[in-house]
Amino acid sequence: MIADNLHNILSTLPQEVTLVAVSKFHPAESVREAYAAGQRIFGESRVQEISAKAPLSPPDIEWHFIGHLQTNKVAQLLRIGNLRLIHSIDSDRLLRIVDREAVKAGRTIDVLLELHVADEETKSGFSVAELEQWMAERRFETLEATHIRGVMGMATNTDDTDRIRADFRAIRSCYDRIIGKIAPDLRRFDVVSMGMSHDYPAAIDEGATMVRVGTSIFGERIY
Ligand SMILES: *Cc1c(COP(=O)(O)O)cnc(C)c1O
Repeated sequence: MIADNLHNILSTLPQEVTLVAVSKFHPAESVREAYAAGQRIFGESRVQEISAKAPLSPPDIEWHFIGHLQTNKVAQLLRIGNLRLIHSIDSDRLLRIVDREAVKAGRTIDVLLELHVADEETKSGFSVAELEQWMAERRFETLEATHIRGVMGMATNTDDTDRIRADFRAIRSCYDRIIGKIAPDLRRFDVVSMGMSHDYPAAIDEGATMVRVGTSIFGERIY
């Protein structure tokens, strides 16, 4: 079933869009099933869970962290050797801690900066204005072990498809302004991570280069 779901989704994704299979709350066995069907990129949202699952999973998996990251868990997260991308950097403070811990661990890490565009207080991240100012001030230049690969965001949780599309468009256009004018010299700034099970087709229409899909691959989560 996981293999069928995966193939159905992949058959609808444009070739240049990367699929992150979000395996949170599903066992390592489900990860292996998706792996056997060819999937190599997996996303998790809790440090404890990814730390338990990664050692039980094939070593050539590329792990992505997509959840809210507490500063006191950063060092533990960076101990996962095949952690390749943190999507959810929601403040300059967290970014500095990730950079410092990566230096300490003697490794590098790619990250995305999380944009808050949704009409919800609960979602965290930079506002569009904050992120554009941060980029204009070239705050990334002092990072030693962290490379900013792009932006991540979520749309408002609503049935209003116009609102969902507007949120995705706001994320993509912020990315376009950064790479077009504000910091066109940024290297490998090429990821726009947006779209989940219920809204990823709209996200792709609006310019996502990476989608994060859980439920449509693995089924409902049991919390
Ligand atoms: C859980 C989660 C997803 C996947 O959600 P589904 O609705 O199961 O596809 C994507 N992005 C983030 C940030 C998540 O926490």
